[in-house]
Amino acid sequence: MSHTETHAFQTEVNQLLKLMIHALYSNKEIFLRELVSNASDALDKLRFEAVSNDALHEGEEQLEISVQFDKDARTLTLRDNGIGMTRDEVIANIGTIANSGTKKFLESLSGDQAKDSNLIGQFGVGFYSSFIVADEVVLETRRAGANPAEGTRWISKGEGEYTLETIEKADKGTTITLHLKADMDEFLDKYRLKNIISTYSDHINFPIKMEKTEWDAEAKADKPTGEMEQVNKATALWTQAKSELSDEDYKNFYQTLSHDFNEPLAYLHNKVEGTLEYTSLLYLPKKAPFDLYDRERRYGLKLYVKRVFIMDDAEHLMPAYLRFVRGVIDSADLPLNVSREILQSNKVVDKIRSASVKRVLDHLAKLAKDENPQEYLDFWKQFGNVLKEGVVEDFANKEKIAQLLRFASTHTGGAEQNVALADYVARMQPDQEAIYYIIADTHAAAKGSPHLEMFRKKGIEVLLLSDRIDEWLVSHLFEFEGKSLKSVNSADLKEFDAASEESLSEEDKQARQALTEKVKNALGDLVSEVRMTHRLIESPACVVTPEGEMSAHMARIMEQMGQAVPKQKPVLELNPEHQLVKKLDQLQDDAQCQEWSRFLFDQAQLAEGHILEEPGEFIRRMNRLLTAVM
Ligand code: ADP
Repeated sequence: MSHTETHAFQTEVNQLLKLMIHALYSNKEIFLRELVSNASDALDKLRFEAVSNDALHEGEEQLEISVQFDKDARTLTLRDNGIGMTRDEVIANIGTIANSGTKKFLESLSGDQAKDSNLIGQFGVGFYSSFIVADEVVLETRRAGANPAEGTRWISKGEGEYTLETIEKADKGTTITLHLKADMDEFLDKYRLKNIISTYSDHINFPIKMEKTEWDAEAKADKPTGEMEQVNKATALWTQAKSELSDEDYKNFYQTLSHDFNEPLAYLHNKVEGTLEYTSLLYLPKKAPFDLYDRERRYGLKLYVKRVFIMDDAEHLMPAYLRFVRGVIDSADLPLNVSREILQSNKVVDKIRSASVKRVLDHLAKLAKDENPQEYLDFWKQFGNVLKEGVVEDFANKEKIAQLLRFASTHTGGAEQNVALADYVARMQPDQEAIYYIIADTHAAAKGSPHLEMFRKKGIEVLLLSDRIDEWLVSHLFEFEGKSLKSVNSADLKEFDAASEESLSEEDKQARQALTEKVKNALGDLVSEVRMTHRLIESPACVVTPEGEMSAHMARIMEQMGQAVPKQKPVLELNPEHQLVKKLDQLQDDAQCQEWSRFLFDQAQLAEGHILEEPGEFIRRMNRLLTAVM
């Protein structure tokens, strides 16, 4: 006796469903592409597992997908004889969103954003798209190799819950029956369906079959013949010559492969022959998925060996910083029973990977330089922060990646990251030695920092860095085209100090010395050193990181990550031309001197983006000083 259980969808599934139905309504036919793509994956998986266990074929060698409709029942049925799912797999794959990041992402959306149809581009489309056209979906499946009594029937109206039932299912694989909504008659038409299949699924590796019909002159209608015919080409797209393929073919294949609703930015299709023999078809997406920074995120490349699918998410085929690349690698040199472990230290894989990385980086360089710099900037907006990881991760390609970096800069002024290091170098002042940058928590904080005052006056460009990864980036990128990269808040800016020190009289020098000692005494252990500066024009004081120490910004990031960071003692630099510093110089009273020194130190810390340990004390002190001059 069969027993039906009712389960609730995860709340996120409901949310995602609503979002999808709303966003994809005008492209509703893509549900078919998604279901065919899932079926094709299931056939791929079966073929792969059957390499080591032939019994999984259950005597049925021909792997295929069929699409059938029933006008009277108003149903559309997709069937595959692939790997199928166990009951637990159905619950895990169809009733939940496996990725915990999805949950967080959906929670973070405000109501308005959640209505935004652009959002769907950040998710894979997938199985749930069936609910765009169906008001009830019945999925029946049985895992290949399992007992026929262990089939599972899943039914849902896409409204909060689904039922599960154990059924007898003689043949392995999955059958999905869509009960079409009232206004979806177009999907009960053979020509319409054939057309969708040839548009989106021609290059699926397996035959897709539909029932053959004959024209019945008497009834003036097509009559089913009971015979099946193949309606797609069923040649893996990447095996075909470039000249035989259109942009449209590549685009549709990308969407099938990636479940991405957007078009790709670019595709790179290469057949390599010689000592190594493989085909690679690499796609660069346009839009970043929401979980790009999720460490558990799947990689985008599928590995095939001689057209037999081996595995998804083949992370050894691309370094982490290019994890957004989607596509297929089909090798003729790897064994069919290759495992992830073998891939990890395999010469063939290493060679394919380094060639693929080169192709991607070269393409990006070409795009950025000649083909379409604006398009490259759009790409950078989506993936720039991931590409930056490459400077740290990929030593061999560091130079190439450095060419691809883009930054905000005082030259352009805006927050957009559009300045290449090469642009910067080309604009450097004749006697300028280094590439200068500033790092702060936000673009506004970087742009407004007192450290930039002298650079502005001298007309020297400074790169404005405010992404989290930037500290790591600059700690691995020491130079570019022979010019060193230097932080404007590092203590080591001697190139600007020397000239102005020389012009001072002996007397002035001594006076300055006395002032710095006075302030150092007043501040004691709060600072490692006090000195005069030439980097300030409008501000009275700033703090800098002593040479060789971790920058204050980096220390803050580490603290936020819960790491113990030794207490930093910054260098306090005073602007001798500033009225407040001149005033401080004249003070004789120790207590007063203490009050002013501390005030200048605290405001310098604030300008740096630090959080004061005792903000209340800072305000009381400022108010005391203000009332004293009223
Ligand atoms: P995606 O395909 O992007 O993973 P879907 O929501 O389309 O997301 O599918 C979720 C999962 O359900 C798939 O990853 C697969 O494990 C399983 N699945 C879907 N369709 C089938 C099918 N026809 N045969 C076997 N498993 C399937």
